[in-house]
Amino acid sequence: MTTPTGVFLRCLVVTGVLIGTVSGAAEETVAIRAGVLLDGKGEPRRNQLIVVRGTRIEAVGDAATVKVPSGATVVDLSRATVLPGLVDSHTHIFLQGEDPKEGGYDAQLLMHGLAYRAARATVSARRALEQGFTTIRDLETEGAGYGDVGIKQAIERGHIPGPRMFVVTRGISTSGGYPLEGYAPEVVVPKGVQIVDGPVEARKAARQQLENGADWIKVYMTHRSWVGKDGKLGSQPTLTLEEIKAITDETHGWGRKVACHAYGGEGLRRALDGGCDSIEHGLDLDDAAIAQMVRQGTWYCPTLAVYYDGWAPADTPHGQTDRKRAEVHGPSFQKALEAGVKIVFGTDIGGLSWSEPIAQEFPRMVELGMSSRDAIRAATVSAAEMLGMTGQIGVIAPGAYADVVAVAGDPLADISVLKRVGFVMKDGKVFRNDLR
Ligand SMILES: [Zn+2]
Repeated sequence: MTTPTGVFLRCLVVTGVLIGTVSGAAEETVAIRAGVLLDGKGEPRRNQLIVVRGTRIEAVGDAATVKVPSGATVVDLSRATVLPGLVDSHTHIFLQGEDPKEGGYDAQLLMHGLAYRAARATVSARRALEQGFTTIRDLETEGAGYGDVGIKQAIERGHIPGPRMFVVTRGISTSGGYPLEGYAPEVVVPKGVQIVDGPVEARKAARQQLENGADWIKVYMTHRSWVGKDGKLGSQPTLTLEEIKAITDETHGWGRKVACHAYGGEGLRRALDGGCDSIEHGLDLDDAAIAQMVRQGTWYCPTLAVYYDGWAPADTPHGQTDRKRAEVHGPSFQKALEAGVKIVFGTDIGGLSWSEPIAQEFPRMVELGMSSRDAIRAATVSAAEMLGMTGQIGVIAPGAYADVVAVAGDPLADISVLKRVGFVMKDGKVFRNDLR
């Protein structure tokens, strides 16, 4: 193709190669004036200068002492609060809110071709970036195979805008452990994950996913939920301890990690005994689970906001379950917070519509007792640690990727200002600036 767009994209790629290979003199230099800098680590600092060269931060310091390099483009954010690019550790770019009016979850697998889904995922990825989420851990494609690897490659090669992505590909559960469900047994329908039964199949699925580009492996350790006769939240365990151990053993051998969807009960226990690295949702954490998470250093990605969305009517079983889930989730989060469980920010967006603000999770965390500063840490330095990217993302410091965002206002005083990120730079390139 020799369309103008094709030529333009090739130029970008060539530029990208040059940036990585030639001397610093040829790299673009940007100097950002920060009114207040919240760097994800220490105290807020006033009147800072951030020097960006190429894709990385070169220097950060007091504007009175750090000089603007000659030839640098100056970005004036002196009336804004500047933060590291944010990280959402639980997204689904291949889901679009499961709107019943659009056929819900099932229609996405049964009616929407992969090209259609990939086109929408491209828009979702852009939505994350424009809201200041410069990194996402995208936790499975829901029947769209290895599509996340393709989107990640397209972003990395400069074809489309989007965040830095950590992907898990297909996800894993067991027979009877994932939709699509409820069809006649004679009808073969697609599943939203790779189904395994037995430790041999479990290990093989992990190998296949890792071979084809999974940065993490995602496992569903519980399925469905209901309010039991005892009035408690129940959920069905899926993989056996033997099966999950086969997956964690294999994945850890590759130097990668395993994220486990688990609500509570037996499935959660197996996830922890099996050596999962992060618990997703963790709606119903008992004291033993919390103690084990602290002991093992397991990450907790609570995804609070999504469980307040779209409740069924109160007088239906679904409606009662929706309310029970939110009712137990808050106290679980509070107990985990108090006990010192390592918590990261995650939304499950895609379960929520991508038209919703991703940062709505921040006020949920703060309302439940987390300080604004710790909520920001959950979406910056803590996420970086979980992702093995300490010093690379989630901080504004020399040597880190130049992923920088800014807001008007003070997020420590009002965390909800993070819903209105007005400046986004990723890899040293300004993606948006409405704060001029
Ligand atoms: Zn999810």
